[in-house]
Amino acid sequence: MSDQLDERHAVYVGSFDPPTLGHCDIISRGAGLFGRVTVGIGINPDKTPLFSSEERLSLLREIVLPLENVEVACFEGLAVDFVRQCGAAVMLRGMRTLTDIESEFTLTLANRHLAPDIETVFLMASEQYTSISSTLIKQIAGMGRAGSVDQLVEFVPETVVAPLLAKFRD
Ligand code: ADP
Repeated sequence: MSDQLDERHAVYVGSFDPPTLGHCDIISRGAGLFGRVTVGIGINPDKTPLFSSEERLSLLREIVLPLENVEVACFEGLAVDFVRQCGAAVMLRGMRTLTDIESEFTLTLANRHLAPDIETVFLMASEQYTSISSTLIKQIAGMGRAGSVDQLVEFVPETVVAPLLAKFRD
């Protein structure tokens, strides 16, 4: 629709606090579908995240290292504005449950109103990742049980395990 925005470039926005295997799955599948994928870490000044924006940026950069068409950046403000700044025509989202569909539907309609030339594309979560959320992972890590490491590698990339456990050590 727009001659300025790149239809082969998708931006995947989220909080990624912390990045999970579900996020990684969407990123790698997106990288296979699009020529270029930008992972956008949304910074919300009203929320106190577990991981700072710098920490999330560095974790995600390490995670996407093997994917040469993926880059990572932080942004503040509206996601559609960030997608436009990137020059991308596509906003990529993941979808896990019926609850996700409901909230994503509302969000997508609002985004379409704000930016009709940016299309939202959804990828259904892979079966093994449908129940994974950053919130759940923080709960598991916070319980600090013996064997946490073994359990966490089922939910987050290995690079995230140690920094995650360190957050709850004190
Ligand atoms: P937010 O807090 O903004 O929802 P998240 O980082 O939790 O951001 O998620 C970003 C995007 O990734 C959303 O589209 C969300 O539905 C999707 N997502 C989150 N977890 C998963 C998962 N396990 N599988 C597939 N998609 C996911």
